[in-house]
Amino acid sequence: MNRDQALAIVKEQLTEHRYVHTIGVMETAIELADRYGGDLKKAETAAIFHDYAKFRSKEEMKQIITEQKMAPDLLIHSPELWHAPVGAYLVKKEAGIEDAEILDAIRYHTSGRENMTLLDKIIYVADYIEPGRIFPGAEEVRKIAETDLNQALMASMKNTILFLLKKNQPIYPQTLQSYNYLVFEEK
Ligand code: GDP
Ligand code: FE
Ligand code: FE
Ligand code: FE
Repeated sequence: MNRDQALAIVKEQLTEHRYVHTIGVMETAIELADRYGGDLKKAETAAIFHDYAKFRSKEEMKQIITEQKMAPDLLIHSPELWHAPVGAYLVKKEAGIEDAEILDAIRYHTSGRENMTLLDKIIYVADYIEPGRIFPGAEEVRKIAETDLNQALMASMKNTILFLLKKNQPIYPQTLQSYNYLVFEEK
């Protein structure tokens, strides 16, 4: 599948705004892969499909999480988390993407995970710093990402957790575990 074919598949699943975000993530992920020695083609494909399931109904996502025996604690946490693991499942089923590294990068693009692969990190950070992201902190992480992908990842996770804390939102345990893993690794 070439880039235009992948983009055409994804465009049908997304709003215009989310499609523009996806293009931004794609361009940023390719830049990061180039800078940090990642696989450019896998970065492109994972970025294009990362938000594939973003607009599926809660009912459909809940059903897939249950039937496919995904982490049951997802269901007591925010539905915002669901499109990542559900996306990995649907991208394989509906778009025929089989590559396990690409599917993992999609699966973990919202929560992160312990011991993230280079591709996981590229997609997580690209999602946070693509040019359309104008929230406080994005510019700082963009700057860090020019020289240190791990520090950029840590800063974007930290900002996400702080953002949730300020909104009195619960933090998904895997989000915290991913962050803790990076902090321990630094020591
Ligand atoms: P997007 O799909 O491009 O908007 O970005 P993400 O997939 O990274 O994140 C989707 C949403 O999930 C964002 O609003 C995050 O703040 C939120 N999110 C990320 N981690 C957690 C978490 O641990 N708990 C909760 N409640 N929300 C989270
Ligand atoms: Fe997402
Ligand atoms: Fe993200
Ligand atoms: Fe995204």
